[in-house]
Amino acid sequence: GATGNASSGTRFDLEKETELRFEVEAGERVQLELLSGLAEIFGSELNRNKKYTFGPGSKIAVFTWQGCSVCLSGKTEVAYISRDTPMLLYLNTHAALEQMRQQAERDNERGPRVMVVGPTDVGKSTVCRLLLNYAVRLGRRPTLVELDVGQSGVSVPGTMSALCIERPADVEEGFSVQAPLVYHFGSTTPGTNIKLYNKLTSTLAEVFSQRCEVNRKASVGGCIINTCGWVKGSGYQALVHCASAFQVDVVLVLDQERLYNELKRDLPHFVRVVLLPKSGGVVERSKDCRRESRDEKIREYFYGFRGITFFPHAFDVRFSDVRIYKIGAPSIPDSCLPLGMSQDDTQLKLVPVSPGRDLTHHVLSVSCAEDDTGDGGSARGRGVLESPVCGFIVVTAVDTQAQVMTVLSPAPRPLPRHTLLIMDIRFIDLK
Ligand code: ATP
Repeated sequence: GATGNASSGTRFDLEKETELRFEVEAGERVQLELLSGLAEIFGSELNRNKKYTFGPGSKIAVFTWQGCSVCLSGKTEVAYISRDTPMLLYLNTHAALEQMRQQAERDNERGPRVMVVGPTDVGKSTVCRLLLNYAVRLGRRPTLVELDVGQSGVSVPGTMSALCIERPADVEEGFSVQAPLVYHFGSTTPGTNIKLYNKLTSTLAEVFSQRCEVNRKASVGGCIINTCGWVKGSGYQALVHCASAFQVDVVLVLDQERLYNELKRDLPHFVRVVLLPKSGGVVERSKDCRRESRDEKIREYFYGFRGITFFPHAFDVRFSDVRIYKIGAPSIPDSCLPLGMSQDDTQLKLVPVSPGRDLTHHVLSVSCAEDDTGDGGSARGRGVLESPVCGFIVVTAVDTQAQVMTVLSPAPRPLPRHTLLIMDIRFIDLK
């Protein structure tokens, strides 16, 4: 039950295995304090007598296994206690994965590789966070593989990445992203270039497997793969591709029986496909809401988040000092392709972009590729496509007369590398 008190907020007493769900109103902040008992938010434990602050639009569930009292102050859109949560099923899932890790440890094998799938707004990212938190709290070192190019929890939108989880997510800020491995995809939906999407999935799988070979803890910890909500047609094929590239052992299907049946039919029999209900607390997000949170991710990249303020740099870059590419040429009919060239080749081709006014506001990835790697063919070392990115810049102005562009960059000049990959994604820097 809840007891209101204008000055000090509202107190909620939660019975065991229930959760307090709340949403923060636009333009508002809400503070949460654990008064007694034990509670967690998406698998991260709360400390007692510490005030946690949540910004506008946050959608939060405070869950308790044992019972607790919390105090909430500030303007919430909704705040209610629910007894009906799938948390016990999620905990059982975690327990099963942990058993697999123990067995892997005993038998000198690798730990579980788990793919989390489902349509949009079923809580995939939340389930990933929960499972990673529970694993790391037991001392495991699981890897988060983020394939959701629309709403990445690790880097800016339009990227695919992997992150070793070494400590539980911060209650307010999520997982610490100190050294993620990030690849440029370039748009917010896999459908824009499904060949590239699948190729980068394979690249991530290779890099992860290589790491597992040299790092026993990473191997035993396994990985949790977050995927896109596009589960039909090529989107579905991309899931099947991912399952095979990562050689996943477990697929968690949230909320969609059809998808569950399709995957059971199409994946090898040794892959355990499990259907899990979604939480009634997961809130649907509108297109606008998604766009805003993408924008916010980019803003955070340049300007920081909450306690940490970054001061990005603005400087001019001469066109002649950089090479800008777009990955993928517009597809042309098969009959028009040069002999020996396939449609795949066009989707994975580095197409030089001549800088012009239309670059303005575009996000560019700074590729780690050696500057003279050339067009994917990798004369030496890795090609641009297979190289991770070392950072991002935004073009804020283009001067075609002077042949320079002004960029917003997290680091002062010069750019660390000179191969830039253009995203479809734009960011308007309002400061
Ligand atoms: P996407 O469609 O972007 O892939 P998703 O399926 O990954 O979405 P989440 O991002 O996990 O969904 O969840 C959507 C929103 O619902 C998030 O803001 C999350 O914080 C919130 N949420 C998840 N579970 C709960 C819950 N039990 N109570 C309240 N809010 C929740």
